[in-house]
Amino acid sequence: MSYVKQLACITCGQTFPADTPLFTCPSCGIEDGVLDVQYDYDAVARVMPPHEARASGLRSMWRYLPLLPIEQPALLPPLSVGWTPLYNSASLAGALGVKSLYIKDEGRNPTASFKDRASAVGVVKAKEAGATRIACASTGNAASSLAGFAAAAALPATIFVPERAPEAKVAQLLVYGAQVFSVEGSYDEAWELCQKASAAFGWYNRNCAVNPYLIEGKKTVSLELVEQIIEQYDGRFPDWIAVSVGDGCTIAGVWKGLVEMHILGFLPKLPKLLGVQADGCQPFCRAFATDGKLTPASADTLADSIAVGYPRNFQKALRAVRQSGGAFIAVTDQAILDALCYTARTAAVFSEPAGAACIAGVRAAVASGIIGQDAIAAVLSTGNGLKDTKSAILAAGEPTRIPPRLSAVSHREGAKTDV
Ligand SMILES: *Cc1c(COP(=O)(O)O)cnc(C)c1O
Repeated sequence: MSYVKQLACITCGQTFPADTPLFTCPSCGIEDGVLDVQYDYDAVARVMPPHEARASGLRSMWRYLPLLPIEQPALLPPLSVGWTPLYNSASLAGALGVKSLYIKDEGRNPTASFKDRASAVGVVKAKEAGATRIACASTGNAASSLAGFAAAAALPATIFVPERAPEAKVAQLLVYGAQVFSVEGSYDEAWELCQKASAAFGWYNRNCAVNPYLIEGKKTVSLELVEQIIEQYDGRFPDWIAVSVGDGCTIAGVWKGLVEMHILGFLPKLPKLLGVQADGCQPFCRAFATDGKLTPASADTLADSIAVGYPRNFQKALRAVRQSGGAFIAVTDQAILDALCYTARTAAVFSEPAGAACIAGVRAAVASGIIGQDAIAAVLSTGNGLKDTKSAILAAGEPTRIPPRLSAVSHREGAKTDV
């Protein structure tokens, strides 16, 4: 038995019982009728901070079981997900121009991205629903993550990826044994195809924006962040949290976790959210700066994980940033590649381009006066740099080729070390 009270439509507020088989509100439809899982927070408060998990020394996202929609904990997959390290890096703070900087290394999850938090919940919900196959469409990480967790849960998986997905991510899918369709088209087209195929064949659909449970996994990053700052950093909470934004599920999940820690009394003041997009794909920035309406955009950026021209969790994400009093900002691919390098050279965290985008966003936001120089900021490195070595080498340059002679070593310059 979970602490879930009900599900509510984020647009009309209509509520549905905790065990509803619905994914979206029938009155508001798939675009606006995303459901939100609501808990009995009075009951949760009696078991938080996660007493049982602390007593047992459990260091994974499952320590927050009271805040997760899990009905059958016996189905939890054995992989260790979450409780990723949170570092405070003075040198990265210096590179960005803020007073203090936290970086949470989500690349340390089992399949090397933040998406594992969502997939972990997804496979449990699929099994609870009696599904025999789980499906998703993904720019890469949701797919590789689902493939890994499906393997851990012994659940067959079907995955749709756009043909531009980086090779390392596709390799993960194949190695974990998923059925993989490389769709000759964009991510948006792969997404539509997955929706249709899931409906036609009765597969469980992991797509985050329409499945209300996935975001519950994503929010655990904020639950951890708050607990880690209390434990490791004397409760010096950030003024700003920067998150790279594609579909918008991640930033909406981050916000939900923060709001819950605020409701439960662990976080005295909610931080502002900085949503970061790539210059070549910025539907949220456009909407935020204008009428708040979604205009599908082109998806032209090397940060493949945020190359989403038609965001599927538009309302939740826009609302989260507005409620926080935050902002959206866009950064160039070059700024992303620069951030990829200086983050590795200061904090020694190696991010894929989409993970580095939010870091570039903090620097840009300081330069434009959105974030003050006396601010404490936090960033999520959402994916490991080894996921996309092509971009990493584009960012860092090639090694110096030499003959195997000592004279060649002493006569040449060393690696670039500037930040
Ligand atoms: C998916 C992803 C994001 C963005 O998450 P959305 O929910 O699509 O906004 C950011 N970084 C990485 C590495 C991702 O895989």
